Order: sequence, then C-alpha cells, then structure tokens
Amino acid sequence: MKAFVCLFMALMVYGCDAASKECADIPTQSHTLRAELLVSKNQTWKNDLMQQYQLKPADELAWQDLHPNPKRSLSEQQVKDWDIMYKKVTNTSAFKPPVGFLKEVPLGDVKLLEGSIHAVGQQTNLQYLLMLDVDRMLWSFRSTAGLPTPGTPYGGWEAANIELRGHFVGHYLSASALMWASTKNDILKGKMTALVDGLSACQQKIGTGYLSAFPTEFFDRFERVTFVWAPYYTIHKILAGLLDQYTIGENPQALKMVTWMVDYFYNRVMNVISQFTLTRHYESLNEETGGMNDVLYRLYSLTGDSKHLLLAHLFDKPCFIGVLAVQANDLANFHANTHIPIVVGAQMRYELTGDPLYKDVATFFMDLVNTSHSYATGGTSVGEIWRNPKRIADNIKSPETEESCSTYNMLKVSRHLFRWTKEATYADYYERALTNGVLSIQRGTDPGVMIYMLPLGLGLSKAKTYHSWGTPFDTFWCCYGTGIESFSKLGDSIYFEEDGKSPTLYIIQYISSSFNWKSGKVLLTQTVVPSSSSDPFLRVTFTFSPTEKTGASSTLNFRLPSWTHADGAKAMLNTETLPLPAPGSFLTVTRQWSASDKLTLQLPLTIRTEAIKGSFAKI
Ligand SMILES: [Zn+2]
Repeated sequence: MKAFVCLFMALMVYGCDAASKECADIPTQSHTLRAELLVSKNQTWKNDLMQQYQLKPADELAWQDLHPNPKRSLSEQQVKDWDIMYKKVTNTSAFKPPVGFLKEVPLGDVKLLEGSIHAVGQQTNLQYLLMLDVDRMLWSFRSTAGLPTPGTPYGGWEAANIELRGHFVGHYLSASALMWASTKNDILKGKMTALVDGLSACQQKIGTGYLSAFPTEFFDRFERVTFVWAPYYTIHKILAGLLDQYTIGENPQALKMVTWMVDYFYNRVMNVISQFTLTRHYESLNEETGGMNDVLYRLYSLTGDSKHLLLAHLFDKPCFIGVLAVQANDLANFHANTHIPIVVGAQMRYELTGDPLYKDVATFFMDLVNTSHSYATGGTSVGEIWRNPKRIADNIKSPETEESCSTYNMLKVSRHLFRWTKEATYADYYERALTNGVLSIQRGTDPGVMIYMLPLGLGLSKAKTYHSWGTPFDTFWCCYGTGIESFSKLGDSIYFEEDGKSPTLYIIQYISSSFNWKSGKVLLTQTVVPSSSSDPFLRVTFTFSPTEKTGASSTLNFRLPSWTHADGAKAMLNTETLPLPAPGSFLTVTRQWSASDKLTLQLPLTIRTEAIKGSFAKI
C-alpha cells in the first residue's frame, strides 16, 4: 500500500522521506535479441528465450543483464559475487525438486478445543465471515462486467471508487475455504459457493478470462508505468482465493476460472514484452504485485503447464531477489509487504524446481529480517517500510510499528523454512509471531473489528493509533484481508507429518486441539493450561485414542521451545520421567500409543528482556 503511505503516513510520521525505495534495476539485454523479439512471430522461440532471462540462466551474460544497480548499497565484493554466483550453478538441468520436506496435515483433521483462546479467535472470525453479504462483495465485479448490481457496495478500501477494490473479496475466498475446512460450517459453504458462482458469471459476461472489480484500464496504466494502485496485488488475491476454493473448498469450477484468468494475464504480459521490452515489464514490477509469483507457482504445481511456470518466473522481480542472492544487507527503505510475498514465491520456486539459489535467498532473508529488522514480538517494518537496521529502536516511537500483513507473510516464510529444515528455531519464530502479531489484532470477540498495525512504543494504545480499530463494513484495509485468513487457519502449522518407514509427526505449537492422525491411526488430543502469572510453567497434556488396532509404533516429536529452560522442564509418559534434550530441539518418543497413555510437558516460563537488534535499547 505504498500510495497510502506516501499520501497519509508521510506527514504524520516521517515527513517526505516516507516513500519506499523502488527496485528499478532495469535489465539491459542485447539489442540484437530485443529487436528480434519485437519482430519474431515464433512464439515457441520467444517463450524459450524469455525463460533464459530469469534468475536461473545458464547463460552468464543473461545473469549479468539482471545485475542489481551498483549505485545502491552493494559493496564491490557483492557485485563480484553476483557475477560469479552462476558460475557455480551452470547446469540447471541438474536440479531436481527436493524431497523429504515435512508435509502439512489436512486442516479438516485438526479441531481447536472449544473455549481455548485460539478457538475463540476462530469463532469470532467465523461470525464475521458469516456477516458479510455476497451481493455487496460482488457489487463492483458485477458493475465492471456490466451485470445488474443488487445491493450496495461496501465501504473503505472496497468502495466503488477505490482502486484496490476487490482485494478483500479475494481474501474472503481464501479465508472462507480455510474456515470451512476447519469447521465444516454449512452456511459458510453456501456463501462461498454463491460468491464463486457470482464471480464466474462476471467472468463469463466479460468473456476474455479477465475477472476483477475494476476495469482493464488499470492494467493499461500499470503497463505504461504510470500511477495506479497495485492492480496485480488485487489480482493475486483473487487468483489465490480461487485456488484455495479449488484445493481446500473442493470447488472444481474455481480452477477453471483461475486458468482462464491466467491465460488473459499471460497474454497481457507477453504483449508488453513483445510490444515494448522485457525491461518495460520489469520496470512495471516496481508497483506492488503481491504474491503473483507464488500463486502462479502453485498453479503450475497443479497443472504442469509450462506457461504457468514461465509467467511465475516473470513475477520473480530479479532486482530484489538478486540483492538477497548476493547476501546484501540492503532491505532498508524497501516496502516490506511488497517484498515478503516475493520471497514466499521464491520458496515455491525452490520447492518446485530444486534450484538451491532460492533456498539460499529465503534462508538469508529470514535471517536478515530476524537479526536486523525485527522486534521482540516477531513483527517487522515501521509505517510499512523497513528502515535503518542500526536504528530499530527509533521505530517504536511511531504508532504504526508492525504491519499485520507483514507478519502474515513472514509466517509463510518461516513455515516453509521449518518444513525444509526441521529446525526448531523456525517453529519458535512461528509461535512468537502468531501469538503476538495475529492473536492481538482482533478486538476481543467483536466480529470484524481488527487492527492494521500494532503500536509497540511506550504509552501507545491500539485504540489511539493513526488507523485505530477498523469497522466491520467500512474499512477493509489490506490487513483485514490477511486478518480473516489468519484467523481461519489457526489449526494450521500445529502438526506436520514426515514421510518414512513408520508414521512420524512433529508437534510444533502448543495449542489446545485434537488431530485425527490418519497415517498414525490415532486421534491425538493436546490440552494446554492457559498460562497465568501464578503458575511459572506452561503445562500441556497429550492423550491418545487409537482409531485402528495396528500393533505398529509411531513417532512423535515435541518441540522444546528455545524460551524455556532445562532447569525445571519435565516430560512424563504415564508414570515415567523422560530424559529431555536441550531447549530449541525436539523430544522424540516412539511407541505403540494406547488409550491409557498420557504424556505431559511442564515447561518453565520466565520473563526476560531482549535487546533490539542493532541497537542498545531494550524492549
Ligand atoms: Zn496490511
């Protein structure tokens, strides 16, 4: 939401320097190739050539053409690193999609236990999703398609004169699919099906594959690199929402809608490249494009269509990923939530292609944010932007400290890294950011009252920030969209499965819930005693109900959080005390779990301070 920041936040918080840094490194390809691209009618050749211009070129010259702008803060050594990086990675065909990652478990197999703080947040969000009206959400889509428009449009950023309109509807598609998988609420299922049907009617009426709450003229401006408010940001939400309706909401119609939409945008991007240049396309990516690369990689994983892979590559924003690829500490003044989703997309690129560069990019990025741009809450950014990594303490004077959308996306980054590495530190991060940066953004049990950015400074209050609390029908900020998704997937990332000879499970969050572990043939229930100042321990109990007699063993790995202490930590399996590894690792227990088993954890809780990274002050 750069435009918003420039117009409103600048004067309030930082003056005119609030504008974020653009990533305007324009790749300069050979003139010969550019000329040939313009005149060629050979689409296959063009497609092949375009693939050579991504950040995976076997051709060293193509890589150099994507060079980051040396006028930025890259050192001479980093510029050299850029040049030699791909000398180490010349045989791209050697990459194979990696295997052995932990697998997410079906959301429908996880139930949050009634009355727990997480279940209350989920139910509050469910109420909000049920309060929203399908005709009102569809209003601008129908208007754009030239269809009758019953009802009235919503307000805030969904209003009929706001260029971001439609973004929340995309989030609603995702949130309702996730919530339905978690709760199987029939009324919600009816709403989300009606929404997909209504959107499909709009797409059919337009007839080109285009589907949006605003006209195509927005993309004309995007492609001219003139002002427009992030049309691809909104399209990403619609595409991701429809994909979630297909993969989680079990609606096959939604996939057809996505592929038709992507056909339309594929042609648009190819038209820009053939009418102008690839440079022009990359220049347009200075505008926020959300997770376009991520959703296109996801689509490719479903369709196997190389066209989808190519289009995903074209949204990888090389001038930003390149900075991470050479491990430059250069996040300052980038708009945070424009760029975190691009890293999430890069992570999907690694998962699908096996290109290790994108694993390194994500690992470095996470480390950089954590060591140079994060607060003790796990949140990042100030006024939506990363600032001087040496002066993080200055940020907390601002009432607009960490944006909820950034936390939502950083959770995705850490989730991928945990699944890849099984390192407890990424699960620790997930817990910290989820607890502080997600659970905190609802106002009690008021449906549809959420916050945009969390103020962290002394004497500040969520009720007295620039945005303060939103309202159910007249704000619809970006963080409302990510907020309704976050509270719909609170059952996610508690449990992960590992492929192997015997069923193996990782339990990484202590959240009161039950999990119907199908491969382990057991219903596992974890109950967390709400922490209180009178009890210096986090207490968690696990019980087991075998769903089938197999006589086979299975393995459970319990996270021992880094915030606890070995002194006083205890694990009991029935009457037996289990030896515990150090905090920051996993307790592994293998056995034939029976209905009489009970495993309890007692983890010491202490209050401590953490220095703000790169500063002397503490928070
Ligand atoms: Zn936001």
